[in-house]
Amino acid sequence: MMAQVNKGKWHPETGYTYICWRCNGSGGNGQCCDCYGLDYNRIMQEFRTARGKRYYALLKAALSIKGLKIYTEVKAFRDQKGKLSPADLCRLSIEYGFPPNRVKPFAEWLEETGIIPSGIYQYLQRRGFKPMKVMDKLGLIS
Ligand SMILES: [Zn+2]
Repeated sequence: MMAQVNKGKWHPETGYTYICWRCNGSGGNGQCCDCYGLDYNRIMQEFRTARGKRYYALLKAALSIKGLKIYTEVKAFRDQKGKLSPADLCRLSIEYGFPPNRVKPFAEWLEETGIIPSGIYQYLQRRGFKPMKVMDKLGLIS
């Protein structure tokens, strides 16, 4: 899973670089079903239900757009508060268009950048963390 995301290139100053393999970065006039010409909202809309290879392609496309912004915001947050709570993770995930069923890749990507401890999502999951429940409780989803 991580290895797939790793096919793009991450750098904490320049962000996540990834070229869509399907359209070779052209975006296919916004019609490419793996990147939608880097239309973030459209990508996230499809990412909710996408599976397999397309799931990873859409995730990588999304991160190439907002990855650096997400990283920078999480870093500022962490520097200020010391660490992210599960509620913070849910709030940030929703803020960037990642729905409850996609908090995992959001968190795993942050783990991969080193901004949150590696394995933290699995740890939370083992302790019964349910993004949907937390988001519902916080009024983040209707
Ligand atoms: Zn594409």
